[in-house]
Amino acid sequence: MSLNAQQDNAIYFDYQSTTPVDSRVLQKMLPYFSEKFANASSAHEFGLSVDDDVEEAREQIALSIGAKKNEIVFTSGATESNHLALSSLIDLLISSNKRHIIVSAIEHKSVLDLAISLKKKGFTLTILPVTTSGFIELDVFKNSLRKDTGLVSIMTANNEIGTIQPINEIAEQCAINDLIFHTDAAQAIGRVPFDVNETKCLLASLSAHKIYGPKGVGALYVRGNASKMGLLPMFLGGNQENGMRSGTTNVPGIIGFAEAIRIAKFEIESDNSKARRQLKTLWDKLKNEIDGIKINGGIENRLPNNLNVCIEGVDSDALISGLANVAVSNGSACTARTITPSHVLNAIGLSDEESRSSIRIGVGRNTTDLEIECGARKIIEQVKRLRG
Ligand SMILES: *Cc1c(COP(=O)(O)O)cnc(C)c1O
Repeated sequence: MSLNAQQDNAIYFDYQSTTPVDSRVLQKMLPYFSEKFANASSAHEFGLSVDDDVEEAREQIALSIGAKKNEIVFTSGATESNHLALSSLIDLLISSNKRHIIVSAIEHKSVLDLAISLKKKGFTLTILPVTTSGFIELDVFKNSLRKDTGLVSIMTANNEIGTIQPINEIAEQCAINDLIFHTDAAQAIGRVPFDVNETKCLLASLSAHKIYGPKGVGALYVRGNASKMGLLPMFLGGNQENGMRSGTTNVPGIIGFAEAIRIAKFEIESDNSKARRQLKTLWDKLKNEIDGIKINGGIENRLPNNLNVCIEGVDSDALISGLANVAVSNGSACTARTITPSHVLNAIGLSDEESRSSIRIGVGRNTTDLEIECGARKIIEQVKRLRG
């Protein structure tokens, strides 16, 4: 099957999985594939000039989250940033005898699986439950804190059900208790205000491809800077990123990331109000025509462009394959090809059966009102066909 999301009749409703590169972002990136291709670490004029552009991009990205330039470490994306944040702290945590780690049950797998793997290295782990609406409760969090807690990692916004966690309060508690607080903000930047002066996190993971930037580039924000905090790099070699992340600088990616974040910051209000309006229309149509449909996760404090619904008795795999040229997802993209039900939906109390009957609908900058109309009609038709 070859489906092109830009085809006239194709409808892309999977913006939490990834987004297309904005044409303005692409334009900014193009020269860095050809005439400005030099290695940013090279000492010649060509390299120095490219390096200047990378530093300007770093400044732009730092500014957009209220950080300083030297607090940004470029990586290959949020997965790597999450790993850099958590695994590079291991030695520090061991040496200070802080072997208890707290994460939430709805973290992205790149945090959750990594945290679970640390148990083999002698760490103890608390996986915090969430409410049936998909939120961490502050009291439950506070009660989970121990004398030997060293690290807390709670995502800002969830990629499956879009719930936005009370991370300012959590970060504040961590600061009071002198704990390292990391947040995976991959879904949050560009969609909800995210500023490290407000959220007193010490570490935050960012990704470009969720905000109309290119795939394969992201960043880790490190308060103060990485060596001050005692982070150890995962990759050794050319000492790029002040030694925190060796490997030839992904110049086009970084340039695109900066432009994507600049545009997102500028258009956040219009993007969000359009998404809210479109999803409300879509939801109204679905609930009027489909019995036994309900929204997974709370309605308040949710990403404006995310809807996750459970349709009683309808197998989501069958629904997705029946929808053909409407792209919705079940589970998160990274684990979608496995048959295990979503750990996020399980965490909010759905049975395996309900979880298998759930789909995620994500809209974005390119979604048109006509697509909402057609998409809703196609989903309704398929559900009726599968049921009838
Ligand atoms: C997409 C996503 C990731 C992974 O980001 P990559 O840049 O694709 O590695 C991590 N966490 C969350 C919440 C995400 O949505």
